[in-house]
Amino acid sequence: MGTPGPSIGQSFGDSWNERMRLIRLRRKKEAFRFSDEFRIIPKWLKVLCLVLYVIAIAIGASVMVYAPDARPADMQNEMGLSVLAISGIITLASIFFAGGILLLGYVNRDAKRRGMNSALWTWFVLLMLPTSVGIIGMIIYLLVREPLAYPCPRCSNPVGARFNFCPNCKCDLYPSCPNCKREIAETDKFCPYCATELRPASGESTTAQA
Ligand SMILES: [Zn+2]
Ligand SMILES: [Zn+2]
Repeated sequence: MGTPGPSIGQSFGDSWNERMRLIRLRRKKEAFRFSDEFRIIPKWLKVLCLVLYVIAIAIGASVMVYAPDARPADMQNEMGLSVLAISGIITLASIFFAGGILLLGYVNRDAKRRGMNSALWTWFVLLMLPTSVGIIGMIIYLLVREPLAYPCPRCSNPVGARFNFCPNCKCDLYPSCPNCKREIAETDKFCPYCATELRPASGESTTAQA
């Protein structure tokens, strides 16, 4: 009667496999370097964190200097020490505060460059931050984020992570074993699952077109 379509379990399995494939692809193609990741956080946000920190230190220190009553009971006559103490407390608080702000800035920019809903993900990570599980939102984000576009192995044209073929040179970006149909790497000589000999990629002659 009904059109024979994939069952719910089947299509869930398919999307799960697709997700796993994208995660493997990301691990393979994306080298994580902290300095590179840090660079995508908007500069104004970093400057803002620094300015807020300096202002907080200035306020804290001047209170300690000019309002001796505000010093802790056992440091009433210790101006230098109380300035040092308040600076330490403010620094510690700032590390957490700025860490959260920079994290959100990172998620926002990173989601955008991966073609994800950046506003949604920024809110998600933000709303999780104050909870007892705090960083879990960030962990979830890192696990499910889309892979970045990467250069085509044959023509270096940027290709999306979900592409099966390069739109520029038709290179097979998702090579599979002709025998067992499972995913293989571009460099495999034999299928790692069924040992079928794999032909060298048809486009081996990479005579660059200037
Ligand atoms: Zn290509
Ligand atoms: Zn095979």
